[in-house]
Amino acid sequence: MLKETDIQKKNRLDFSTGWSYDPAPESTDHIAIKERYGHFINGEFVEPAEGEYFATINPSTEEKLAEVAMGSQADVDAAVKAARKAYTKTWSKMSGRDRGRYIYRIARLIQERAREFAVIETMDGGKPIRESRDVDVPLAAAHFFYYAGWADKLQYAFPGRRPEGIGVAGQIIPWNFPLLMAAWKIAPALATGNCVVLKPAETTPLTCLKLAEIIRDAGLPAGVVNIVTGAGDTGAAIVNHDDVDKIAFTGSTAVGKIIQKSIAGTPKKLTLELGGKAANIIFEDAAIDQAVEGIINGIFFNQGHVCCAGSRLFVQESIADIVRDKLVDRIETLRVGDPLDKNTDIGAINSKEQLETINRYLEIGLNEGADIYQSKCDLPEKGYWCCPTLVANVSQSHRIVQEEVFGPVLTIQTFRTPEEVLEKANNTPYGLSGGVWTDKGSKIFNMTTGIRAGVLWANTFNKFDATSPFGGYKESGLGREGGLHGLIPYLNL
Ligand code: ADP
Repeated sequence: MLKETDIQKKNRLDFSTGWSYDPAPESTDHIAIKERYGHFINGEFVEPAEGEYFATINPSTEEKLAEVAMGSQADVDAAVKAARKAYTKTWSKMSGRDRGRYIYRIARLIQERAREFAVIETMDGGKPIRESRDVDVPLAAAHFFYYAGWADKLQYAFPGRRPEGIGVAGQIIPWNFPLLMAAWKIAPALATGNCVVLKPAETTPLTCLKLAEIIRDAGLPAGVVNIVTGAGDTGAAIVNHDDVDKIAFTGSTAVGKIIQKSIAGTPKKLTLELGGKAANIIFEDAAIDQAVEGIINGIFFNQGHVCCAGSRLFVQESIADIVRDKLVDRIETLRVGDPLDKNTDIGAINSKEQLETINRYLEIGLNEGADIYQSKCDLPEKGYWCCPTLVANVSQSHRIVQEEVFGPVLTIQTFRTPEEVLEKANNTPYGLSGGVWTDKGSKIFNMTTGIRAGVLWANTFNKFDATSPFGGYKESGLGREGGLHGLIPYLNL
């Protein structure tokens, strides 16, 4: 599919040292995955009303890991009913201090079982164990710790107001950070006194079901957290349920629009965290080697399945050749393969469908005249894989520049002046995140105030913290999650 173009190396570095890595697999023998999981409703695992199950597979081996319940309208009804009862009878009456104790307990139990969570996250979703171990799981625990701290201090967060929970929150999450997104949703909801019905994505339900076990073990009152598995129809049943007071959704802009339409005219509150196409901007005065690492991390972290990924690179013209050469050299060193290997940099693409989407965009790029360069990685025979990909010779009008690919694919454009790059950076329907690399503080301020995006990084990328609000402008969504701002969507003030 790839043609020899000027992005191919002229004087590439030679990485063939003769040395190679030994396999360093994380062991899976301590992992307990049941053959079948029901929904977690009213404090226990129950069979689905219609008796239907579907398989969740390991995208790096295509092997079935478990069957999970397909949620029907009756299952969603039962979950919402349990949540309403728990809200009215128990959770809304409990002191913030006591609610906080339960949330702290969840945080500690995640830490205790961190290794198990990391391995299952990697098996079910395909991300490298290094990332699930060092990012997803610790950050999920951190969110519970952080919001546990707010549970008894809400009146200090909003002085002069009377913060009260809303009721039942319906929460729908995607497959790129399954446990972490569950934590982003559940922790603030519980801290503010709400009860929850959460639906994980169809390809990655397992860590949410493990979280349900922890929630049960932590002794949370029955019905405070309910987890219903299923696909889009199950999500729609939650969105359209009359007794749900708030919807929190993270996923594609297309589904976000459907949800926004279907709850228009109802009293339901809404937060949406949708797609992105972030500009990562490198000025000629930046520390180039650090910037190259930031570009790599910005787009190849989690196979590029990241809504805030730095997928549009803008390099100042005077350093364009050197940055491009360093990037081409650097992607040759990225190790693609077994996600359970501790030396793996890029794991499996989450699903066959997503791999097809990525390949379709590469085809579109080629047809539009782009130069596409992929590293020469050896891919395993089974599973879904995409080598790190650079796309050059593109302009603003290319679809691969405009649309979210959600894979390890970086487009490269150049610019001459700050004004020009600001205009290009903002020329997108999205506005989730962005990055600026420069030695000059004033340039950072000028750029970050000019970019219409909710999250901006300077001389770094993809840094997350429970205390920091996250969310988008324009078609990237509305509302914020994380930090003090993340409490607001779950409160009547
Ligand atoms: P992606 O394209 O990244 O898979 P989606 O937006 O399709 O993202 O999926 C995100 C989440 O939304 C998943 O849990 C999915 O099951 C759910 N979902 C899909 N369609 C709908 C819908 N019409 N209403 C509610 N939830 C939906």
